[in-house]
Amino acid sequence: MPTSESERVPGRQPARFAVVDPATGETFDEAPDQRPDELDAVVDRAHRAWHGWRADPVVRTTALRVAANAVEAAGDDLARLLTLEQGKPLAESHAEVARTAARLRYFADLAPRTRRITDGRPVHSEIRWRSLGPVAAIVPWNFPLQLAAAKFAPALVAGNTVVLKPSPFTPLATRLLGTVLATALPEDVLTVVTGREPLGARLASHPGIRHVTFTGSVPTGRAVAEAAAASLARVTLELGGNDAAVLLDDVAVDRIADRLFWAAFRNCGQVCMAVKRVYAPAQLHAEVVEALAQRAQTVAVGSGLNPETRLGPVNNAPQLARVEQVTKQALADGARAAAGGHRLDGPGYFFAPTILTDVPPGSPVVTKEQFGPVLPVLPYRSLDEAVDAANGTGFGLGGSVWGTDLDRAGAVADRLECGTAWINHHAELSLAQPFAGAKNSGVGVAGGPWGLYGNLRPFVVHRPQEA
Ligand code: NAD
Repeated sequence: MPTSESERVPGRQPARFAVVDPATGETFDEAPDQRPDELDAVVDRAHRAWHGWRADPVVRTTALRVAANAVEAAGDDLARLLTLEQGKPLAESHAEVARTAARLRYFADLAPRTRRITDGRPVHSEIRWRSLGPVAAIVPWNFPLQLAAAKFAPALVAGNTVVLKPSPFTPLATRLLGTVLATALPEDVLTVVTGREPLGARLASHPGIRHVTFTGSVPTGRAVAEAAAASLARVTLELGGNDAAVLLDDVAVDRIADRLFWAAFRNCGQVCMAVKRVYAPAQLHAEVVEALAQRAQTVAVGSGLNPETRLGPVNNAPQLARVEQVTKQALADGARAAAGGHRLDGPGYFFAPTILTDVPPGSPVVTKEQFGPVLPVLPYRSLDEAVDAANGTGFGLGGSVWGTDLDRAGAVADRLECGTAWINHHAELSLAQPFAGAKNSGVGVAGGPWGLYGNLRPFVVHRPQEA
């Protein structure tokens, strides 16, 4: 089945771009480099498919359940391709495929509630919900499949059609996912487009798109909001984070060290809501640094295809350069690497898992989003100082508080300016909860019923009770 306009034209060779395996740094495949002008036909078909798709919620629920089964059946192929282009360990790719199917299943069973409102007058208002039209879903390279599903599953069950654009660093697993979903969904209900910029910019500004749901960095999120303003499409933005973990003075370091380490280093630190800064009481700082450094020095780093590997490479060369640059800057600012601090020799985009201490609070590794396997651990003297520092960036995605007295930890968590605050863990989410960033970390709400309503508009019928 052709998935790009240029593939539909017999005899015409579509342009392609290279896809690199980050574990080797070598090109291992290619993907269609679709031109922005191809989007007109794609969006037009998505618009036509919308008329049938929005008609029957039972058909949609059934199709999404079938789609979830199809994703699971293709799990081995999807996971392998994901590891090849993204770098994560194969077990994590399998887990991502499982979460993709779980999102389809969760949203398949969600439906909006029709409500009747009476206010004492002899009329009532009935609130119904209507779909929006074609939705553009634009996703990054860190969790290509599950982040896509978090967008297309609620959009589809709501009755919209979807044009999905993965990152050019990870187009292949998403293309395969599109082919798998096509076995369960009517034609043109979900279309995957791949290509380099300005494909995403054109999609975000396309006049036929009624909702742009974007996950990515803050600067690109701003550009997407500006682009979507041209057609006044709805915008949902899930953007970057710089989550702080605040350790309290009653924390049992040996009990939480594993959890804290993986909250920062899972997916090689390339998680929007990873722990990106640790604040430890001054008297525990050395113990915390040592516990994290010991884990950083011994964790198995390598190709995601190797079953021993727990940490893969950084996904792409520009990101590796950013990680290296903020680390070098921190070291130049006076920081010390208790573990790592450098690229690993050999092929591939590997960076040694790094724990930084003595980091000046103004260094970019603290104030910006490093998005890689590098973690600064900062000492604090008073809790107010720690909370102020945790809240002291433009980000507001998540945060966590770690301690033995849960009530006290809960009271500190209440003071974090973010969308989700965890106690004694970090980044665990339920499909049923809202997901939204504070400050620059997001606009709109995804997850749970909020994600469904984010893809619907209210339609109100106001009528008298008698003719
Ligand atoms: P990015 O912003 O560079 O790219 C995201 C997507 O936007 C990609 O598909 C990219 O091709 C596309 N794009 C690039 N320029 C565009 C433009 N002008 N208009 C429209 N689309 C455009 O982000 P990235 O480097 O792929 O991902 C890392 C970032 O994503 C980090 O900041 C991370 O925190 C964030 N992220 C946030 C969440 C969340 O849920 N809040 C989840 C995962 C990642």
